[in-house]
Amino acid sequence: MKNIMEMKDFYFTYPKAPEATLKNINLNIEENKITALIGPSGCGKSTLLRSLNRIHDLYPGNQYGGKILLKDIKNRKMENILMYKKEIELIDLRRRVGMIFQKPTPFPMSIFDNVAYGLKLAGIKNKSELGGRVEKALKEAAVWNEVKDRLKESALGMSGGQQQRLCIARAIAVEPEVLLFDEPTSALDPISTAAIEELIVELKERISIAIVTHNMQQASRISDYTAFMYLGDLVEFGETEQIFLNPKKKQTEDYITGRFG
Ligand code: ADP
Repeated sequence: MKNIMEMKDFYFTYPKAPEATLKNINLNIEENKITALIGPSGCGKSTLLRSLNRIHDLYPGNQYGGKILLKDIKNRKMENILMYKKEIELIDLRRRVGMIFQKPTPFPMSIFDNVAYGLKLAGIKNKSELGGRVEKALKEAAVWNEVKDRLKESALGMSGGQQQRLCIARAIAVEPEVLLFDEPTSALDPISTAAIEELIVELKERISIAIVTHNMQQASRISDYTAFMYLGDLVEFGETEQIFLNPKKKQTEDYITGRFG
């Protein structure tokens, strides 16, 4: 088992919600697998996901500790991302560990510029290289055919499902190692949802994935591993089939069988 990320005794508290605490979380994200985080609303799934690329830094006054390790692909060493302090380290972290939110978040600019944005930040200025990388990312995100004739039009004119695939294209253009999905389909219709699920499964060939979902069918359809969380605790973690067919903890079983949630 090769892990791309490892949380070791990680804890996190918001200043105004001390009860909403992640407690000593030990969780591994395996390479080229999909790990689903499930559990009732408010149990800390999003907080945990956001910690994996330190978006939680944006909430002032929070307290956290323990370790979150990320494999440095070049020298195969694990680095503690909680030690990153410099702005440049955080920008690089968020390139390596990308995030897709529940509501599609296209920038108010053209379709092309949305995808080129991160590439330009990464220093790519050459026009033909930019064009090639944008096209590649849009193809990989399965949205190219729908937008290739209107790349200069505003991304805000796209449908919700297209916008979400555009956001995935923007994230994968900068070649991340990990992608974090926070309820990526809960604002979408069933057809767009199926397209995004199919895309996520394809992406795991190259990218390791963690996904928060309140949709248990979705977790069982696409994930390899499932983590069940409850009140800030990681209650049970295992292969998705085991968690859904043969949960070891009673709380997991009660949740899976719909007794609460
Ligand atoms: P989930 O994703 O499982 O629904 P969250 O991680 O979003 O849970 O939230 C866990 C708890 O932390 C909730 O009680 C929520 O109200 C609280 N919380 C989330 N974000 C913040 C924040 N920025 N400031 C204070 N409390 C927050």
